Amino acid sequence: MPEKIIGRKVVILGSGPAGLTAAIYASRAQLEPLVVDGPQPGGQLTITTDVENYPGFADGIMGPALMTEFRTQAERFGTEFSNLWISEVDLSARPFTLHGKESPESDEVSAIIKAETLIISTGASAKWLGIPGEAPVPEGFGGNGVSACATCDGFFFRDVPIIVVGGGDTAMEEALFLTRFASKVTVVHRRDEFRASKIMQDRVLEHDKIEVLWNTEVREILGTKDKGVESARLFNNVTNEESDHATRGVFVAIGHKPNTELFRGQLDMDEVGYLITEGRTMRTNIPGVFACGDAQDSYYRQAVTAAGTGCMAAIDAERFLAEQEHEAAATTPAAV
Ligand SMILES: Cc1cc2nc3c(=O)[nH]c(=O)nc-3n(C[C@H](O)[C@H](O)[C@H](O)COP(=O)(O)OP(=O)(O)OC[C@H]3O[C@@H](n4cnc5c(N)ncnc54)[C@H](O)[C@@H]3O)c2cc1C
Repeated sequence: MPEKIIGRKVVILGSGPAGLTAAIYASRAQLEPLVVDGPQPGGQLTITTDVENYPGFADGIMGPALMTEFRTQAERFGTEFSNLWISEVDLSARPFTLHGKESPESDEVSAIIKAETLIISTGASAKWLGIPGEAPVPEGFGGNGVSACATCDGFFFRDVPIIVVGGGDTAMEEALFLTRFASKVTVVHRRDEFRASKIMQDRVLEHDKIEVLWNTEVREILGTKDKGVESARLFNNVTNEESDHATRGVFVAIGHKPNTELFRGQLDMDEVGYLITEGRTMRTNIPGVFACGDAQDSYYRQAVTAAGTGCMAAIDAERFLAEQEHEAAATTPAAV
C-alpha cells in the first residue's frame, strides 16, 4: 500500500522555468500548488553555465543560479515541493490520480497524488550522441563548448570555428544561425545526403561560411578544462579513417524528445510527442489539464518562452477552478 495520499488543487509536474513560473503565479493566487521535481530539479538550465538572454540579468547569470532564484521566489509564496518521480497518471476523472515513486527503478509507489488541476511542465530532452567529452561539465564539455541550442549559445562562439552535427531541418537552421558568429561552420553528417527540406539544404550548401563533411561521425570531443573544446575526433564511415578536426564548439542538432510518454493515449500530442494545446491557451484536450514549456513547444524552446507559458497555464488553471466553484455554487440548493 502506498504510504501517503496527497490532495492538491494544483499539481505542477516539473521544476524548470515553466513549472516554477506556474508555481509563482498559482501560489500568489492562494492555490497552494505542489511542484513535483522529477528527475532534474530546476530543469535543463541546471546543466548549462552562462545564461545571457534571460531578461532582468544585465550581466547574465549562471543557469543553476537562475533556477535557484525561480525556486526561492516560488517558495516565498508558499509553493511546496516533492522530489518524487511520477510513473503513472490517470486522467480519466477529476481529481486526477498520479503515482509517485522515489526513483524510476523503485518498485513501490510511495505516494498517490490527487490533483484537481494538473499543469504539465515536464520539458524536453535534447538527443545527444553519447560520446566521450559530451557530458555536462565537470565530466565533459557540455555547457562549455558543447551545446544543443544555437540561439542560447551561438553568441559565445564569435570568430572561432565550430561544428554542427546532424542532417535535418534543425541542423540546417542551427548551422545557418551560427554563421553570424563563427569564423567557419562545419556540418558533420553521418550519411551522404541530408534529411532536411530542399530549401534549407540549398541555403546551407550555398553558404560560403559552411562546409559539409558527409559520411562522417563525431567519435569524441577533445580539449582541456582551461581552454574548453579544442578538437573533435571524426570518423569517415566510408573510408574508415579517423582524424582530429580543430574546433572550439560542437552543436549537437539531432533532435529533441519531449518528456511526455507518461501521457500517451490520454492527451493529444503530435507525432513526436509534443502536447497539443488549444488556441492561445495552455488547455489540453482534458479539461483541468494544462501543458506549458518545452513539453508543448517544439519551436521556440527558450527559458523565457517556457516561463511565459508557465504563467499562462497557471492563469488558465486558476480560471478553470473558479468556474468549477461557480458552477458548483449554482447547482447547490440554497439553504432555507
Ligand atoms: C545546455 C542547455 C543550455 C540552454 N541554454 C539556454 C539559454 O541560455 N537560454 C534559454 O532561454 N534557454 C536555454 N536552454 C533551453 C531551456 O533550458 C529550456 O527551453 C527550458 O529549460 C524549458 O523549460 P521547461 O520548464 O519547459 O522544461 P525543463 O527545463 O526541461 O524542465 C523539465 C522539468 O520536468 C521534470 N520532469 C520530467 N519528467 C518528469 C516526471 N515524469 N515526473 C515529474 N517531473 C518530471 C524535470 O525533472 C524538470 O524539472 C538551454 C537548454 C540546454 C539543454
